[in-house]
Amino acid sequence: MLDWSEPNANPALHPAANAAATGATGLGTIDRGAARVSVDDKRMINARADVNQLLPLKYRWAWEKYLSGCNNHWMPTEVSMQADIALWRSKDGLTDDERRMLKRNLGFFAASESLVANNIVLAIYRHLTNPECRQYLLRQAFEEAIHTHTFQYIVESLALDEGELFNMYREVPSITDKAAWALKHTQHLDDPDFKTGTPEADQSFLRDLVAFYVIFEGMWFYTGFAQILSLGRRNKMVGIAEQYQYILRDESIHLNFGIDVINQIKIENPHLWSRTFQDEVRGMIADAAELEAAYGRDTMPRGFLGLNAALCEQYMHFIANRRCAQLGLAQVFAETENPFPWMSEVMDLKKEKNFFETRVIEYQNGGALSWD
Ligand code: MN
Ligand code: FE
Repeated sequence: MLDWSEPNANPALHPAANAAATGATGLGTIDRGAARVSVDDKRMINARADVNQLLPLKYRWAWEKYLSGCNNHWMPTEVSMQADIALWRSKDGLTDDERRMLKRNLGFFAASESLVANNIVLAIYRHLTNPECRQYLLRQAFEEAIHTHTFQYIVESLALDEGELFNMYREVPSITDKAAWALKHTQHLDDPDFKTGTPEADQSFLRDLVAFYVIFEGMWFYTGFAQILSLGRRNKMVGIAEQYQYILRDESIHLNFGIDVINQIKIENPHLWSRTFQDEVRGMIADAAELEAAYGRDTMPRGFLGLNAALCEQYMHFIANRRCAQLGLAQVFAETENPFPWMSEVMDLKKEKNFFETRVIEYQNGGALSWD
């Protein structure tokens, strides 16, 4: 008879018990009577431990990020768009250059949030065999839905052409080039036969993590934030700028989660992080900075107060070097100063300071639910 009081009842019963009966997905056949999960069997990829059991926790950093994500909850509809609508409609509120940059920026993000979401759910989730990391991915996936919602809300508020904006990633070459570059690194994970477990496959998975977490969310999004927040600093499109601050706060956790995931996989699988592979990742980061510079020139052919393509390129080099440092890589670009020091102040935003006092929508709670 099973003794439920023992923390690890009869571990000898099924020695390799946790081993992957339910498999990497967690949806395989249940191994009845299998031994309880041991923290030592938990791994980022190719784990033996049952992925359906959150506890015992191994990676507290992943759990902490899940909690931080929940604490940062927001909805785009809580931000008033009145000032933005008035400015967008007024004839001289924004220059043609500002309108061009704004629209292309929105167009880049509108589809990118969905690309990132699809990559998490359809490529990363299946192969990251750790339940606390998956718990965070589920939270992140919802945040990406909120971000996509933001662009729907902006289109609706400003009465923008929805097809123009959402299809921009297939129409504007400087945006298409970035999306196509990222997709290249996730497409083969989309193959139902793709499995981690060989050095080649595990490196493919690492490339996907670098492409989406470090480059897409960790580099390209940052120049996008700088463009809009620079407008906001000049008191233009302040509603969108506020929404971008919330998105930026979410994205900085997405980025840091991705960095932690990659670094933990490195610790557990040092053979994957070879000199050749490190150079490849540095090459990816350099290529991505070049794509971003092209996007900067395309979205800001002339530039405006405090912001132009050259400064954005410098910012990208600064950010790229920081990402290299976070991954323990030699930097890719010559040392350069941050041309947008105000970005770090914006990133320290504490929504709590007055967000809840200005909240315009109350969430439904148990007492407020009506079933008819
Ligand atoms: Mn996002
Ligand atoms: Fe994200």
